[in-house]
Parts: sequence; C-alpha cells; structure tokens
Amino acid sequence: MSEIEELLLPHISRLKTYQGVSPSETLAEEAGIPLEQVIRLNGNENPYGPSPQVAEALGSFRDYNHYPDPAQRRLREALSDYLGVPEDNIVAGNGSDEIIDLLMRMFLAPGDEIIIPVPTFGMYSFSADVAGAEAVSVPRDENFDIDIEAIQGAITPRTKAIFFPTPNNPTGNVVTEAQARALLDTGLLVVSDEAYYDFCGQTLMPLLSEYRNLVVLRTFSKWAGLAGLRIGAGAMDSELAATMMGMKPPYNVNLAAEIALLASLSDTAHLLDRVDAIVKERGRMYRLLCEIPGITVWPSQANFILCKMPDGRGLEVYEAMCRRGVFLRYFDNELLRDYIRSSVGKPEETDAVVAGFRAALGVD
Ligand SMILES: *Cc1c(COP(=O)(O)O)cnc(C)c1O
Repeated sequence: MSEIEELLLPHISRLKTYQGVSPSETLAEEAGIPLEQVIRLNGNENPYGPSPQVAEALGSFRDYNHYPDPAQRRLREALSDYLGVPEDNIVAGNGSDEIIDLLMRMFLAPGDEIIIPVPTFGMYSFSADVAGAEAVSVPRDENFDIDIEAIQGAITPRTKAIFFPTPNNPTGNVVTEAQARALLDTGLLVVSDEAYYDFCGQTLMPLLSEYRNLVVLRTFSKWAGLAGLRIGAGAMDSELAATMMGMKPPYNVNLAAEIALLASLSDTAHLLDRVDAIVKERGRMYRLLCEIPGITVWPSQANFILCKMPDGRGLEVYEAMCRRGVFLRYFDNELLRDYIRSSVGKPEETDAVVAGFRAALGVD
C-alpha cells in the first residue's frame, strides 16, 4: 500500500499557496481591535459596495433551486452590451480568476511556459504552477513599463502565452497599444487583464477583431463591488470562446452572481458615479502621499496606489498601520523592497492612511 502522498502530483505537493486577503473578522482579531475599526485597503475592493439594486434583485428572486444556464445565455447577452463585442466572443467566469485558470488549462502542458512582466499580479504564476507549467518572470524597467525586447528574448519553443494586467497590479501603469501589438505579433496567446479598466478607460478590446491570439479579461469585482460574488469575463476569438465554453465546469457562474451582474448592468450610471468618486479620490490621495517626506509614490490609473517606504522601513510602517486598523498590502521581494500598496477608498480612509504613514515615519 502506498502513502497517499506518493499518489499526489509532485508539482501540487510543492505548490506555493496564493496569498489572498483575510476576512475583516480575522484582521480585527489579529490586530486586537474592534471589527468596526477595520479599514480594508488591501484587496482593491470597492468601498461603496454593490449597487443597491443587487440586494433587491437577489432577495426577490425565487428560483435558486434551478441550476444556472450552462450556455450563459442571459449573461453573455448582457455582457455583450457592456463589453461591446458579440456574445459568441464571450465567456463568463467565477471571477476573472477562473478565466485565467481555464486559459492555463487550455494551453499549458506540464513543462510549458508563460511569460509575465514582473512585478505583477500573483494569480498568473499561481495558476501556471497548478498546471505544472512555468511562469517565466521578465523584469519591467525602472518605471515599471514592460520591456518588449526582454520579453521577445525570453521566448522559447515551450512559451505559449504572455499575461499582463493593464493597468498593472500593483504598479498602476498601463500597456500601450503599440506595446500590445508588438507582443501580439509574436503569435503567442496574449492576455490583457483589464480588471481596473473602469478606473482608466484604456482598453485593448478594439484589437480583438484584428488578432485571434488576444484575450481581454474584465471583472465586476472592483468597479461594480461584486468581489464576494465572483463574476468576471473573458472576450476572445469566437472559436476559442466556444472551446472554453466546452471545457469549463458547466455551472461555473452561480445564479446569485448572474442576478447581481444583471442588476449591476441595469444601474451602471450609479456605479460609474462611484467609480468617478474613487478616481477623484485617487488624485487627492496621490497628492497627499507625495507630500510625505521619504516616500516615493507611483502614479496610478487603477483604484490603488503603490508607495516605496524609506529603505528598511517597509515592514515597520506596514505593521504600525495594522495596529491602527489600516490594512494594506506589503511587498518585500527582490523587485519591490519596502513597498506598500493601498487601495483607494473613501476620503476618510485616505486620511487614515496619510495620518498613519506620517505617524509611523515620525514626520508631522
Ligand atoms: C483583482 C484582480 C483580478 C481578480 O478578479 P476576480 O474577477 O475577482 O477574480 C484579476 N486580475 C487582476 C490584475 C486583479 O488585480
């Protein structure tokens, strides 16, 4: 009889877990503060919550005993209007994270490679690892812009795809159309993850009709405040979409997520007003952070701002912020040493971040 571990795939038993955000209750407990004092700025969530119409639609719906539509008819129809591409080009996912995972499973065999310009979102290397493939990191330049030549130079016979967010998480800068075209001309699968599109308005969606190797990802987690319900989408070549529709879990998007998406898309004016408020607040937060001596602030086109703390002081500042109940994302790796990313929240949350940084750094 073998030990169960011997049956486990080796790349799964040594998998590095993705570090997601913790529930507010856990954060409060760890910091020893009351739940009401928790300020969550570590997951780029929407501080204004979903559209009020979401709760209403979820509460009045009766048919939760039915399975959702495996063909996603209503979802794809609604998404088609929102994304501006035909229904046949769309697949809805359990968050855009699921579309990332599906793409990895469609294109990668163990030993295959994807290229990711780093620093970037952790899900690409995580999902590639799960597939037994390798995410090859290509460093961005000193402004965190992608380095086209270095990417071209990193392509091997096993390279299948290039994944990047635009705007990039956690640096907030975009990939230009010219850069995207250069990557698309490699013929590899190119995935433009536009999770923060609604905060910047720049998209590679119009290139879909020109390039069959382009996939554009969108999510309702950030701009529409639906992170907890898990709903995102991919726009791609219609044959690729049909293949993905055929291999996804049949009921991958639950009915609550579908109802929430439809309610959100019938209330976009209201949701976009909140997006405007966040974009406006981003400008104010950027200016206030820039006034703090000793930290470097990166301009952002998304709903978060990346800062570099003085050398060797990142952890200390991060921990001081946790004790104040302000939860941010701390980075300490080769590329991002002493960096902290804060989501853009409500004005009073910005004030708490700025006051906390000033206190932690001893600059008043
Ligand atoms: C937040 C985020 C996502 C996650 O989207 P879900 O739809 O919640 O799975 C995807 N890509 C990037 C770059 C993100 O920052």
